Amino acid sequence: MRVHNFGAGPCTLPLDVLEEAREEFLEFSDSGMSLLELSHRSPAYDEVHSATLELARRVAGAPADFEVLLMQGGATLQFAMLPMNLLGPGSSGGYVVSGAWGAKALASARKAGVAYSAWDGVGYGFTRMPAPEEIRLDDGTRYLHVTTNETIGGIRMVDFPESGTPLVADMSSEYLTRPIEWDRYDVVYGGVQKNLGPAGLALVFVRRSAIEDGPDLPDFLAYRWHAAANSLGNTPAMFQIYLMGKVLRRIEGRGGVPVLEAETEAKASMLYAAIDESDGFFTSPIDRAVRSLTNVVFRLPSPELEARFLLEAAHRNLVGLKGHRSVGGCRASLYAALELDSVSALVDHMRTFQRDAR
Ligand code: PMP
Repeated sequence: MRVHNFGAGPCTLPLDVLEEAREEFLEFSDSGMSLLELSHRSPAYDEVHSATLELARRVAGAPADFEVLLMQGGATLQFAMLPMNLLGPGSSGGYVVSGAWGAKALASARKAGVAYSAWDGVGYGFTRMPAPEEIRLDDGTRYLHVTTNETIGGIRMVDFPESGTPLVADMSSEYLTRPIEWDRYDVVYGGVQKNLGPAGLALVFVRRSAIEDGPDLPDFLAYRWHAAANSLGNTPAMFQIYLMGKVLRRIEGRGGVPVLEAETEAKASMLYAAIDESDGFFTSPIDRAVRSLTNVVFRLPSPELEARFLLEAAHRNLVGLKGHRSVGGCRASLYAALELDSVSALVDHMRTFQRDAR
C-alpha cells in the first residue's frame, strides 16, 4: 500500500518510475548485472548518463551556452562551490535572505569569499519577500543569489529584481515546476530530491562564460572541471542519475514544465482554499502574494490540536505533514509526483478534523 507522502524531500516519486526501476534492478540492459554493479565507463551507463544530461537540458529549456552538470553533495555543496567559482578579488555576492535556506547559502558563501545580505526577511519572520526596489546591491557585486522557494518557510519569490546583476538561483524545492528565465541567470541549481529524483545529487546549470576564467580550484570544486569531463570526472552518483533520467523522461512525456506548473498551481490552490475557507481554524502565516506553491505551511489553533491532527492524518495514510523542526506547525509539500488525489484526501481530513474538533 502506498501512502499519501507530503514529505519535504526526499519525497514521493512517480510509482511507474519505481516499478520500471524494480523491473530493471537485477539486470540492467542485458549487461548480466545490476546498474549498481556496472562500470561508470561502460557503454550501457554512458547511454544513461548522456540521455539524462540531454533530457535535463531539454526539459529545463536551457540554452546552448549553459553547461548542464550533475554533482554529488546536494544543494549544500553548491552553497560553497558557487562563491568559490564565481567570486574573485574585488567582487562579491549579494544574497536575498528570504528564509532558512537563503541564510545557509549566505553563511557558507561568507566562508568562501566576500558575501553580504542584500535584503533580510528575518525581521518579518520570513513571511514576506522583498519588493525588487528593496534589494540593495554593493558596488562590485558579481551575482545576486535568490532562493526562489524557501522549503521550510513556505514562501516563494514571485518578482525578481531587474538590477542588471546576474542572478544565481537555488530552485531546489520548485525545480522545473516553474519556468526559468534563462537570460537573467548565470547559475541555476538545486538538489533533485524533491521534484526530480532521489537524494544525493545536484543538477546545476552554469552559463559557460561565467566559468571560463575563474580561479584554479581543486578538481571536484571547479565547475570547469565537471563541465570538461561531462560530469564524469569521477565516479558519479549513477543510480540517482539513472532514476532522475526516468523521472525527466516521464515529465517530458506528460508535457514538460508548463504541465507541471499548471498541476502545481491546481494542487496549491485547492489546499490554500481549504485553509482560507476554514474560518481561521487553519491559518497560513505567509503573505498571500508570495505563498509557496510546493511547500504549504499552515497552523492550527494550538500545538495540541496540531499534534492530534498529524496523528489522525497518519491513520488516514497522510504522512510527512509535520512542519520543519525549527518552525513547528504543519507543512504539506506538493511536489511534482504528488497526485491531486492526495491533496483531495488531505483536504477531506482537514474538514473532518475541524468539524470534530468543535
Ligand atoms: N536549498 C533548499 C531550498 C532546500 O530545500 C534544501 C534541502 N531541503 C537545500 C538547499 C539543501 O539541499 P541538500 O540537502 O540536497 O544539500
